[in-house]
Amino acid sequence: MNKYFLSDEQLQVRDAVRRFAAERITPQARHIDESDTFPRALFDELAAQGWLGARVAPEFGGAGCDAVTACLILEEVSRASGSVGNSMNAHLSLVSTLIADHGSDAQKAHYLPALCSGRKLGAFGLTEPSGGSNAGDPKTRAVPDGEHYLITGSKAFITNAAVADVFLVTARSESGVSAFILDRGLPGFDIGPPDRKMGMHGSPTSMLYFDGVRVPRSRMLGAEGRGFKAFARALDLGRVNVAALIVGLAQAAYDAAASYVQQREQFGRPVAAFQGVQFPIADMATGLEAARLLTLNAARMFDAGMPIKLESSMAKHFAAEAALRICDTAIALHGGYGYLGDFAVERIYRDVKCYHMAEGTSQIQRIVIARELLGRYPM
Ligand SMILES: Cc1cc2nc3c(=O)[nH]c(=O)nc-3n(C[C@H](O)[C@H](O)[C@H](O)COP(=O)(O)OP(=O)(O)OC[C@H]3O[C@@H](n4cnc5c(N)ncnc54)[C@H](O)[C@@H]3O)c2cc1C
Repeated sequence: MNKYFLSDEQLQVRDAVRRFAAERITPQARHIDESDTFPRALFDELAAQGWLGARVAPEFGGAGCDAVTACLILEEVSRASGSVGNSMNAHLSLVSTLIADHGSDAQKAHYLPALCSGRKLGAFGLTEPSGGSNAGDPKTRAVPDGEHYLITGSKAFITNAAVADVFLVTARSESGVSAFILDRGLPGFDIGPPDRKMGMHGSPTSMLYFDGVRVPRSRMLGAEGRGFKAFARALDLGRVNVAALIVGLAQAAYDAAASYVQQREQFGRPVAAFQGVQFPIADMATGLEAARLLTLNAARMFDAGMPIKLESSMAKHFAAEAALRICDTAIALHGGYGYLGDFAVERIYRDVKCYHMAEGTSQIQRIVIARELLGRYPM
């Protein structure tokens, strides 16, 4: 029995991704960061392994994995490269899974095989320039026009925008917030230049602009006006997936620090011999373990059909805060070298900082957690 109680199948997938990541992703991670280029060929390789459609049913070209396995895949990929993990997650957990869970038969047949095979890449547009925390109240409008909707507005920070073919975006329609599947290249649909970012280089984010984009009603995902609320459970799982990405980055920072302190000598001994170095290593490992356990437990609860709104926000919130501390400590334990681009911890720190904000800030996660908890005590 392994300590995370993973099944043989889950372990096999985790080990296969770990091997692939070590051979194919880790050697490219620094180049991806420094050149800020999206590694398209690597995504074809991830697709060939079946991991881009991890949660999609085999009949549509997916691997039909459970939520725990998808977390293991994302953790291992992110451990090798934060930006590859980030782009993979937008495609996998926010686009493919939502279409698989909420799409019509025609939408699934049209989009899923292309998304799973990597022929097309996905992007998810929720955040707007006016705000991401209040994502349930978009300013983007979808106005009915016969058998079509005309979409007008904009989205901000959209991961994969520069490289995606399929965009899942939210807009306010007649009776609430609806979601639409948009193909790249529709008249009136423009994509801004890639944002200049602190980290996550190679995982491009851009603005989306909609100027009366004409979308057939058949491209609405789910029921009219229910596009946000109906996706709540899938979005809860999305936070767990992000927690898995964060755990992967924290593991990479921990690995680098634990190795470095045993090689680096000062005062005639490896610095790992000093208690002042051992204690932070112990704290890093404890935070990492707690973050992974919260993440895997939330995924396991999802697989068991249980509600996970509370647990998914706890996992994302705890993992983001713990990982930032872990990466900060990892840099400190490298001394001045931790501040140089030659060492991976510098990149990992810049990448992990993104998850303080992305997929809901720590304040928003606390609001969700408190609401879930206090709601259990009627006033
Ligand atoms: C690298 C990266 C990739 C991203 N990818 C995507 C993507 O693919 N798709 C997508 O839709 N979005 C994406 N985002 C956007 C991200 O989800 C938002 O940035 C995030 O939700 C925060 O929204 P905001 O930036 O508008 O901040 P705001 O909502 O303006 O918040 C500003 C500050 O106010 C705080 N705040 C807001 N409301 C409250 C409140 N009620 N109580 C207490 N504090 C509050 C926030 O915590 C924050 O500190 C990405 C962001 C980044 C950085």
